[in-house]
Amino acid sequence: MASKDVFALAKEEHARIIREYHLEKEPALKYMMLAKLMEEMGELSEAVLHADSLQRAGKRTKKTDIEGEIADVMLGTLIFSHELGIDAEKAFLKKMACIKRRKY
Ligand SMILES: [Mg+2]
Repeated sequence: MASKDVFALAKEEHARIIREYHLEKEPALKYMMLAKLMEEMGELSEAVLHADSLQRAGKRTKKTDIEGEIADVMLGTLIFSHELGIDAEKAFLKKMACIKRRKY
């Protein structure tokens, strides 16, 4: 899958969430999406800690899926950026160009 498709899928998911949960006129939508992204970050942290046996026993009962949590964070980030009207692909490419110009 090309990166273009990932951005397009995230845009579709953003639209689906709004439609499915009737959030068209929700004034706090960007904060809700930011909270969801933070939730996903917490789940990723928990998965990584669990994989290295750094969580309390019984804290997490299902099999750890770090890949899935990384995907959740990526999707949450793209959905949130779309809500803010930010072209995440353009922003990413701009940032990468900036990083490549750095002298180390
Ligand atoms: Mg998750």
